[in-house]
Amino acid sequence: MAMGALMKGTRVPMRCMRHATAGVLALACTPLGRPSSMLQPGRLPASWYVGGADCSGTSQFRVHAYNDGLFILRQAACTNFEKPLLYLLFGRDRALLLDTGAGGVDVATPIDTLIRAWLLHHGRASIALVVAHSHAHSDHIAGDSQFVARSGTTIVGRDTASVRAFFGITQWPKARGVLDLGGRLLDVIPIPGHQAASIAIYDRLTGVLLTGDTFYPGRLYVRDTAAFAESIDRLVEFVIDHPVVHILGAHIENKRTPGRDYPEGTVDQPEEHDLDLGRTQLVELDSVVRAMRGRMVRTVRPDFTVWPLSP
Ligand SMILES: [Zn+2]
Ligand SMILES: [Zn+2]
Repeated sequence: MAMGALMKGTRVPMRCMRHATAGVLALACTPLGRPSSMLQPGRLPASWYVGGADCSGTSQFRVHAYNDGLFILRQAACTNFEKPLLYLLFGRDRALLLDTGAGGVDVATPIDTLIRAWLLHHGRASIALVVAHSHAHSDHIAGDSQFVARSGTTIVGRDTASVRAFFGITQWPKARGVLDLGGRLLDVIPIPGHQAASIAIYDRLTGVLLTGDTFYPGRLYVRDTAAFAESIDRLVEFVIDHPVVHILGAHIENKRTPGRDYPEGTVDQPEEHDLDLGRTQLVELDSVVRAMRGRMVRTVRPDFTVWPLSP
C-alpha cells in the first residue's frame, strides 16, 4: 500500500493496493480527495501523428513542450517507419537527452535549438548535456555520433556495465540509480527483458515515467522472458509507491481501435493510439505475464501485445 499515487489523466492523489482475485492481479485505488501540488503539470497533444512517406514540407522531428522543462520529440514517419520518441529534460545543472533516434535524420539541430531557447529563457550561457538511452537497439541510438564532438556533452555507454556505472546502480537489475540534473532527480530503474540494458526513467518533478520499448501502446517484443517478467513486476511495485501521471514509451504501434495495430514497417499511421499508458495497463501487463508462468505466448490486449521472440 502506498500514499499519494496518481491515476493516469487525473491529478487527484490516490491510495493504491495490489491484490489478486481468482488469480487475476488488480490494483484497487481510492482517491485521497485533495489536489496534488507537488508535481509540475504538463500537457500532452491529442495526437502524435508525424505524417506519411512524403517528407516535403515536413519537419524531421515533431517537437512538443510538455512544459518548459520537458520536451518530447518524435521522429517523422518519412525519415524512418519506427517513428521513435525522444525525451529532453532540463535541470539546473544538466539536461538529459534520452535516445537519439533511428537514423537518417539530423537530431543534433533540433536538440541544440531547444537548448538555446531554454538557455535564453533562463538567462544562462550554457548547460551540460547527458545523452543516455532507454536501451541499446539501433532505432534509439543511431544519432549518437552527432553528439560525440559536442562540447559539454557526456554520452553514456550502451552496454549494461556502462549504464550501471553511470547511474550508480549497485545491483543490476534489482537496485535503482539516481541522476541529479540539479533540482531535478531522476530515478533509473533497470528493466532488462526487451533488451539487456533497458532502463526506465522516472522524473520526480513531473511524475512522468519513461519506459522505452518495454511498455508502450504496441508490440512489446520480449527476448528474455524471465528478466522481462521480473522487470514488469518491479515497474508495478514502483508505480504503487510513486505518483505517476503518465507512462510514456518510445513508439506507438497500436491503433485507436482496441487490440489492433499497424503492421511492422507501416509508415503512415493516421489513427494511432494515445502515447500515454497508465498504471491500469501496466498492472494488466504484469497479470498477463504472471499468468503465463514463464511460458510466454503472443497475447493481444486492447492497448498492447505481448510478443515473445525466440532466443
Ligand atoms: Zn527496442
Ligand atoms: Zn524501438
